[in-house]
Amino acid sequence: MKYLNWICFLTVFLILTGNTTALAKDDESLKRMNLYKKTEAVTEIPWEYIAAVDQYERQVYDDPSEGRVTAIQVDPLFWSGTPEKIQADIFPEGWGSDGDGDGKADIENDEDILWSIGNYLKSYGTKEEDIKIALWNYYKRDLTVQTIINTANVFKKFQTVSLTDRDFPVPKQANYSYRSTWGDARGFGGRRIHEGTDIFANYGVPVKSTTYGVIEMKGWNRFGGWRIGIRDIYNIYHYYAHLQNFSEDIKVGDVVKPGDVIGAVGASGYGPPGTSGKFPPHLHYGMYQDNGKNEWSFDPYPYLKRWEKMAE
Ligand SMILES: [Zn+2]
Repeated sequence: MKYLNWICFLTVFLILTGNTTALAKDDESLKRMNLYKKTEAVTEIPWEYIAAVDQYERQVYDDPSEGRVTAIQVDPLFWSGTPEKIQADIFPEGWGSDGDGDGKADIENDEDILWSIGNYLKSYGTKEEDIKIALWNYYKRDLTVQTIINTANVFKKFQTVSLTDRDFPVPKQANYSYRSTWGDARGFGGRRIHEGTDIFANYGVPVKSTTYGVIEMKGWNRFGGWRIGIRDIYNIYHYYAHLQNFSEDIKVGDVVKPGDVIGAVGASGYGPPGTSGKFPPHLHYGMYQDNGKNEWSFDPYPYLKRWEKMAE
C-alpha cells in the first residue's frame, strides 16, 4: 500500500512539474507574440518578419539573455553609430531608440530593440521585397535573409510561433527498417562518411515532411539523386534523398507542415540524372544546423526514434 501511495505521489508530481514547464514556455511565447504585434502596430512591419528575425537570432545566440524574452543581439555600431556599447540614457546616433517609453534607448531591452529593428526595416518599406533588401544590408548573408523570409512565411501561414509538432518521415504502417549508421564509411564519390540515417522501405512508400518549414531545394544531386531540402524555423536543413519521385504539387518556396507528403521512397542517385537501382531503395535522411556562420551535420537517429514513438 505504501508503495502504491508513492507511485501516486510521483505521478502527480511529474504531471504537475511537466505542466509548469509547458505553461512557462506558453507564457513566454505569449509575451513574445504581444511584443511582435505591438511592434507591427507602431512600425507597420508585419509581425511575422519581426518574429522571424527573433527566431533566427535564437539559433545564433541560443537563449535570450537574463530578463529578456527576445533573443536579438544588436550590434553597437547599428545601435549607437560607434563600435562601443554606450549608456542607455545617452541618445544614440544610430538606429537605437526608446520603444517602451522610459526615456532610454537600452540595447538590452526587448521593446527598445524590436522598435529599433522595426524602424530600420520600415525605412526600406513594408513589402517583402523591401524587407529583403533591409535584411541583406543588416546581415550581409544570402542564406540568412532567405531563412528569415521563409520563417516569416511559416509564421504567417500558421499564425503562431509555437510550432513544435513533428512526424516520422515514412508511414508507421509501411514496412521499413533503420538503424544508427552515423559516420559509416561510404563507397561512392571518394572518402566520405555517412551523414544521416537510411530508412529502408519499398519503392513508392510515401515520404513525409518531419517538420514545419519551407522547401529550399528540389532536384537532382549526383550523390542524393532526386532530393528535397526543407529548412525549419530552427534553421535546421532536413535532407531527403534517393527519392523515386516528388509530390506533384511540391515546389521550392512552399510552406510545409509535419506529415505533408513530399515524394516517394526510391533508389535514385550515384550518377547522372535519372540513375537508379544502384542500391536497395531507401530514404536517406540528413539534418544540418546553420548558425549564421557555419553549417554542420548531426545525427538524426535519436530524433527519428522520438518522432517514431510520437507518431500514430
Ligand atoms: Zn544514407
